[in-house]
Amino acid sequence: MQQVWGSALTHEEAANAMVQETSAKSADIVLDVRHVSVEYAGGGGAVHAVDDVSFTLARGQILGLAGESGSGKSTLANAIARLLRPPARVVGGEVLYYPRPEADADARGAAPQPVDVLGLAPEALRAFRWRRLSMVFQSAMNALNPVLDIGTQITDVLQAHCPSMSRRNRQERAVELLRLVGIAPDRLRSFPHELSGGMRQRATIAIALALNPEIIIMDEPTTALDVVVQREILAEITDLRDRLGFSVIFITHDLSLLLEIADRVAIMYAGRIVETGTAAELHCQPRHPYTYGLLHSFPKVRGPRLALTGIPGSPPNLRALPTGCAFHPRCAFAFDACRDATPDLQPCASGARSVACHLYDDPAAFPVIDLSKPRAEAPGAAVSSSPNGAAQCM
Ligand code: SF4
Repeated sequence: MQQVWGSALTHEEAANAMVQETSAKSADIVLDVRHVSVEYAGGGGAVHAVDDVSFTLARGQILGLAGESGSGKSTLANAIARLLRPPARVVGGEVLYYPRPEADADARGAAPQPVDVLGLAPEALRAFRWRRLSMVFQSAMNALNPVLDIGTQITDVLQAHCPSMSRRNRQERAVELLRLVGIAPDRLRSFPHELSGGMRQRATIAIALALNPEIIIMDEPTTALDVVVQREILAEITDLRDRLGFSVIFITHDLSLLLEIADRVAIMYAGRIVETGTAAELHCQPRHPYTYGLLHSFPKVRGPRLALTGIPGSPPNLRALPTGCAFHPRCAFAFDACRDATPDLQPCASGARSVACHLYDDPAAFPVIDLSKPRAEAPGAAVSSSPNGAAQCM
């Protein structure tokens, strides 16, 4: 924000500056997730599934969220879409949605104000879902109703959210949506069990697109599919994004898959984001040892055959997180400070990427560590040393 204190700006100029800033921001950013935390209440104490997570989603951007099972990806997605059910509850933060300036300007042409999604009343939330934000869930077979044909499931959405739409228009829109995702219109009366896995997933994407949303959250949309169909679905999503201009939050545990589709990637571990950057940055030079481990946990489809190193150990128990950096029991680079202090997510010198690791606590210095040469003799064994010692790994 432009600073106004101590300057010669009048109140009116300051107000105009704020309006311009809001307009500029809303022109690029569609979703601003700020310090969101989610807990699961339980007899043994609350489980902190998502802890102080912040990120922004730009218009037309595909943002990937990656991490092992239990890292908080799906809980975060459900919190953004207001789909959490007790005992889960959002205990902090805000989710701001920026309406399209040109489409949502008021009668006087003023840019629309951001909407606090977590504070929406039930009727406003109903209008927000599907029109502004929709979701593609894991496992299309479970997401689709097995006793309704595909056409009925699409027209049901249209009827619920556009009650004034005629029956004929709903049918035409359903055919249009099926064509859009590469399904022949004669499949309109097919039931989910009559479709292949890939077609079922395309059908769930068609349903999500029914009202032209600006944001689609895709939660492991390709997990149950074979590799060839996975690639087809990824290509379809990218093509639809290019044609329709929506933004995507794409969730998966398969980082190598994510790097093929995402513009930016956020890596989650134990409910926190531990590294963010462009897909190219994370692919070529992962900064966080956990990102490096994820990258070396999946075989590459192309290129030379490489040994998979994986990540030793298991994800932590969220009821009893390790002290300091939650990754330290599994990290080959851990040193004394890692057990005592939790590293903050720090922007690196370029400002385009951030890392939560004590090795990178000084954003100006931001040493490049060769993560292929862990300091410990045995992979995963914590060693005691100083952060400066890490520079020897370069
Ligand atoms: Fe965490 Fe320390 Fe390893 Fe960095 S070096 S990931 S702070 S344990």
